[in-house]
Amino acid sequence: MVGFTTTIPLEIVIAAGRRPVDLNNIFIEDPACQSLIDEAEMAGFPRNCCGWIKGLYSAALHHGIREIIAVTEGDCSNTKALMEVLQLQGITTIPFAYPYDRSGITLEHEMRKLAEHFGVTPQKTEEAWRYLNAIRARVHEIDRLTWEENRVTGTENHLWQVCTSDMNGEPAVFEQQADAFLEEARRRDPLPDGLRLAYIGVPPIFTDLYAVTEELGGRVVFNETQRQFSMPYHATSLVEQYRSYTYPYDVFVRLDDIEKEIARRRIDGVIHYVQSFCFRQIEDLIVRRRLRQLPILTLEGDRPGPLDARTRIRLEGFIEMIKARHS
Ligand code: SF4
Repeated sequence: MVGFTTTIPLEIVIAAGRRPVDLNNIFIEDPACQSLIDEAEMAGFPRNCCGWIKGLYSAALHHGIREIIAVTEGDCSNTKALMEVLQLQGITTIPFAYPYDRSGITLEHEMRKLAEHFGVTPQKTEEAWRYLNAIRARVHEIDRLTWEENRVTGTENHLWQVCTSDMNGEPAVFEQQADAFLEEARRRDPLPDGLRLAYIGVPPIFTDLYAVTEELGGRVVFNETQRQFSMPYHATSLVEQYRSYTYPYDVFVRLDDIEKEIARRRIDGVIHYVQSFCFRQIEDLIVRRRLRQLPILTLEGDRPGPLDARTRIRLEGFIEMIKARHS
């Protein structure tokens, strides 16, 4: 197994014949994810440190992962310290950096270093790229069925896209599951065309956000970051693919993509999720200024679990406000 702290060029891990593990996914899917946070705090992680970082640490130890690719630029300012704490536990860490300026030359260099570490040739990586893109195309179709045909729920859309970062460790099985899901979803009657919402920001630590949103009469038809994990653009090379991927770069690159999708998907309102103690919270003011033509609700989450009463009430008020505007 090779763990990683956020989306990395998956093609290299697959070409190396290793099993990819997105630590975020194994943390949040763990039925005991709450106690993973407690364990990290017991080990000494501060209370005012992001829940994902603490979860990643404990998940890596619980699953016995001995080698981790740590994304030191383009994701999280806490990753370097996390990497050092993992090293202390005897885990091998391999740094990978997305260049802030999106330089193709620097990104190619980073990818070459990673490939060399795993002893992978460019030809093998290219083969893995074509193989994975064929699987990603299925997930793109699931996304299209969400916003264009209303046959897929916000939760399903979130889960399928978020899992493309590691394809649940087994791309071949993931491919079969996606095919079976597509067959079933295409036969569904369309969902009622209610309020159409966008979800932007890092994936939620809340476990029931999409379900509650639907219960209240809204539906998320655009999951910004999760969609990025699925590499939604038709790039001409592997380097181009990871240059087009917006998440690791500046907020303005992300906003260009968000604005396009808001128009294409006929979005009525935006949920901007921010994580407690995350530096990305500061970007909320830029998001609000750029998307000021739409109602925006900023929600903050800290620990895994269902929505707390206050957040639920705010979500309810937001949806009611948009409904009133439309009536
Ligand atoms: S939510 Fe923010 S602080 Fe937490 S891991 Fe992600 S980028 Fe880092």
